[in-house]
Amino acid sequence: MPDGPGTPWTATVLTLFPEMFPGPLGASLAGKALESGLWALECVDIRDFAGDKHRTVDDAPFGGGPGMVMRPDVLAAAIDATVAGGEDEALIHLSPRGAPLTQARVRELSARRRLVLVCGRFEGVDERAIQARELEEISVGDYVLSGGEPAAVVLIDACVRLLPGVVGAPDGLADESFEAGLLEYPHYTRPNPWEGREVPEVLLSGHHERIRTWRRERAEEATRRRRPDLWRRRRGAEAVDDG
Ligand code: SAH
Repeated sequence: MPDGPGTPWTATVLTLFPEMFPGPLGASLAGKALESGLWALECVDIRDFAGDKHRTVDDAPFGGGPGMVMRPDVLAAAIDATVAGGEDEALIHLSPRGAPLTQARVRELSARRRLVLVCGRFEGVDERAIQARELEEISVGDYVLSGGEPAAVVLIDACVRLLPGVVGAPDGLADESFEAGLLEYPHYTRPNPWEGREVPEVLLSGHHERIRTWRRERAEEATRRRRPDLWRRRRGAEAVDDG
């Protein structure tokens, strides 16, 4: 459990499948950062909080219908044993009914000290547990996963790469997709040409101002074409800034 000023940014995952962690978070950028103590990962097995000898965590839905529902009493016991409470802790339930995750929200969450992430399984979690423990619901997209664990991995990965010291050249982060409300410009590397395709001339010019302008224009064009929703939001934000 994180305590004291020396504790790094910590993700605590409440799950029925702790063996799914660290999973992809144990490799590459996030894995190296985990190993070197730039962040910490804890898993709490929700099943440890089941009261009966069969360790039951779910039951049939009231009102009928398919599947099973996670019991509120077992989940609440797991949450109560885990949360410390306090401003710098966020208590989140991964759910397709939640607010869609954005880079802005990822930034805010990476600035906290600890995330407690509740992963659902089966048909989902009893609504009363969500309300009684005031779980903030976050979705990773308009599609249905079989459980909250892959969504937790997505959220943690997005936060970890923003933590100080994790990405080698933090300047690179400012240009990335969504940071300025734009998609990123296209990238090129060797060889050139490749299969008869040339790298855009301007990128070989060494002219930093022209390169910056070209990248900016490509980013705006990509956003306008591919994500008119982002583009409109950005124009709206600019109009407010100007006014
Ligand atoms: N019956 C539910 C889906 C349950 S999926 C419905 O139709 O809305 C089982 C669990 O997977 C959920 O409780 C949630 O924790 C997780 N999950 C599924 N899709 C998700 C998404 N898009 N974002 C975040 N979590 C998701």
